[in-house]
Amino acid sequence: MNNFFVILAAGKSKRFNKKIAKQFYNYRNKEIIDHSIDKSLNSKLFKKVIIVTNNLNYFKKKEYPSIIKVIKGGKERSDSSLNALKYLKKYKPKNVFIHDAARPNFSIKLLKNILKNLKRNKAVVPIIKSKDSIKYKVKNQIFNLNRKNSLLTQTPQAFRFKELYNLAINHKNKVSDEATIFINNNIKVKFIPGENKNNKITYLNDVEFSKTYFGIGFDIHKLIKHKKLYLGGVKIPFHSGLKGHSDGDVILHAIIDAILGATRKKDIGTYFPNKKKFKDIRSPKMLKPIINNLYKSNFSINNLDINLICEQPKVSKYRDKIINSISKLTTLSKDQINLKGKTVEKLGLIGKEKAIACEVIISITKYD
Ligand code: ZN
Repeated sequence: MNNFFVILAAGKSKRFNKKIAKQFYNYRNKEIIDHSIDKSLNSKLFKKVIIVTNNLNYFKKKEYPSIIKVIKGGKERSDSSLNALKYLKKYKPKNVFIHDAARPNFSIKLLKNILKNLKRNKAVVPIIKSKDSIKYKVKNQIFNLNRKNSLLTQTPQAFRFKELYNLAINHKNKVSDEATIFINNNIKVKFIPGENKNNKITYLNDVEFSKTYFGIGFDIHKLIKHKKLYLGGVKIPFHSGLKGHSDGDVILHAIIDAILGATRKKDIGTYFPNKKKFKDIRSPKMLKPIINNLYKSNFSINNLDINLICEQPKVSKYRDKIINSISKLTTLSKDQINLKGKTVEKLGLIGKEKAIACEVIISITKYD
């Protein structure tokens, strides 16, 4: 295991619209660079992990294990890469991986595949095919590149240390990746399939395209004679129905409050006060505008979890019908909805079949 992993993090992020450099921006609960650090450590493939940065002070406060070394970067990416190679020379590495900190989404499987291919090759580079059509410009003329022949290189890229070191030290031109040096010197590069998810984070909206929120909803209504019982929009044969200004459907009311909670839009009473206008309104009519508004604002629901709290009726008997109904009202698929029945050991008002309660948790994601 004479492999070394170099993470280039000296970039100034000119295209990233934030005061902090993008490699330190919080992405999925940790800094962007930490994703690469953790994966390189977890893979257990590397003797040392070298971080190349121009923010040495920033890294001083980090408590890294001793296999991580932090060194100073250069002006351009290729200068930083060369700094790392010069630093590594004393360890006499066999293989070196070079990786851009701005790619946090590669897999450990990819690392292993690269290493496997490095046994028979001096340079291994992951590539993906372009999904977009590419044009290129010469002076004022635009030309087409054949998409089928256009390949996009990713990092990590891996090399036999000796070859890369000798080439890099003699190479005068600035390059945007190490594969370029090999290609410019007509040395064979083994290209292997890269990963579509391993995209480079360049712009702020590369990381801020989605956010997930949770919401909680609770409702309880008294059971009274001579009223129909509705649960989840389904009419259920029962000795009583739920008292309320509306049809008293505790499930749909709790869903509405969970949605409003997740989107910070107060509560159901704000939108449906006890006014004449809403007297005896059916709850699907209340849910509909809330759902429409949610989807129009680019939210999507991930899942709903529902606790229906009552002694009777038995939830198991109506579960499929209720889930079907909620699925139709929300356009969720049935496997995004769970309905649990909970009795209360005959305790209190609910235990004496004088009331039914419901609680709901919802997870939603906002896409921009
Ligand atoms: Zn209610």
